[in-house]
Amino acid sequence: MYYYEPLLLTPGPTPVPDEITHALNLSMVGHRSSDFEAIAEEAFNHLKPIFGTKNKVMILTSSGTSVLEASMLNIVNPEDHFVVIVSGAFGNRFKQIAETYYKNVHVYDVEWGKAVDIEAFETYLHSLKHDITAVFTQFCETSTAVLHPIHKLGKVIKAFNQDIYFVVDGVSCIGAVDVDLERDNIDVLVSGSQKALMLPPGLSFVAYNHRAQERFKAVKTPRFYLNLNKYFDSIEQNSTPFTPNVGLFRAVNAYAALIKKEGFNNTIHRHYLIRDGLRESLKALDLNLLVTKDSYASPTVTSFIPHDKDELTYIKSTLKSRFNITIAGGQGKLKGTILRIGHMGKVSPFDILSVVSALEIILTDYRKVNYIGKATLKFTEVIQHDA
Ligand SMILES: *Cc1c(COP(=O)(O)O)cnc(C)c1O
Repeated sequence: MYYYEPLLLTPGPTPVPDEITHALNLSMVGHRSSDFEAIAEEAFNHLKPIFGTKNKVMILTSSGTSVLEASMLNIVNPEDHFVVIVSGAFGNRFKQIAETYYKNVHVYDVEWGKAVDIEAFETYLHSLKHDITAVFTQFCETSTAVLHPIHKLGKVIKAFNQDIYFVVDGVSCIGAVDVDLERDNIDVLVSGSQKALMLPPGLSFVAYNHRAQERFKAVKTPRFYLNLNKYFDSIEQNSTPFTPNVGLFRAVNAYAALIKKEGFNNTIHRHYLIRDGLRESLKALDLNLLVTKDSYASPTVTSFIPHDKDELTYIKSTLKSRFNITIAGGQGKLKGTILRIGHMGKVSPFDILSVVSALEIILTDYRKVNYIGKATLKFTEVIQHDA
């Protein structure tokens, strides 16, 4: 049977709504024109509630990794000591960036699939022999599908020393979670376009508080394209320091209109409901979840453990070849062990019902156990009462 509609369920890039694609296709305007200034002003402002900040959000034309790098180069001086929390492949990326530029990097390892244990981290902070400038962490560690308890983490860090900058990589969850820089004690929050913000790849974002903005000015670490002071100065003029991706700026505004229509709280709720339904479904398929605790399971991506490598390969390749559905494998040390279903951005409960249904068929064939109706029932029961 032929399945016309491809279903892209990777944790980035994610499907792009037609309204956004339309915005991308409008005719070009000069980036040093009042036309663009109007577009940019809207975009900088529209992102404020999504990032939980009162300041205009900086927009760079570059992928998410660039703002991981920028957040470090603009906060940490060359001789500073600082902490990087590594709980998966993206924590490793922060670590690699850190070790590219700095000597005094303190890595705090968290078991992959687990969230940061707040008390253990507090003990770790007290055990450090040097004053530290900053703590870097993922919000959602995409490679494991863990959502870290950012609010608690921010609290513990600032209680230990309020001068420490708390820098959060929200690339795979901003747009799907409730965040507030002030409430959560976050100084810098970065993200990218192609995940929960349901835009194509190509833009990255930096939200910051006043303290961070002052710090950007004071820091001596060399940087050029990623010098956030340039972006901050331009933002005041509703502009960008370098040629922006004009189409994607328009797409940000189309995205904001969609979220306004849905209501941001409803957007968040939709992600959590899908997560809950999917987790119940996977359990009904006798698949173990990598993230065992519901409270630390990301609303944007879910990871599960097939019985063995052959089953894993069979699931992933059959989803694609027979059902036109793309999901993701594991990264780093979880490659070959887990599969990940992305469910962020333009994803409806019935999109996920499709993959659950396909998994019933695939595992019924592969394991010679009848799963038909078992997992879809669980999923439907979770979404049943949601108005
Ligand atoms: C995808 C991702 C990144 C990297 O973004 P790129 O756009 O691929 O550079 C960084 N951090 C997290 C948590 C991610 O999910």
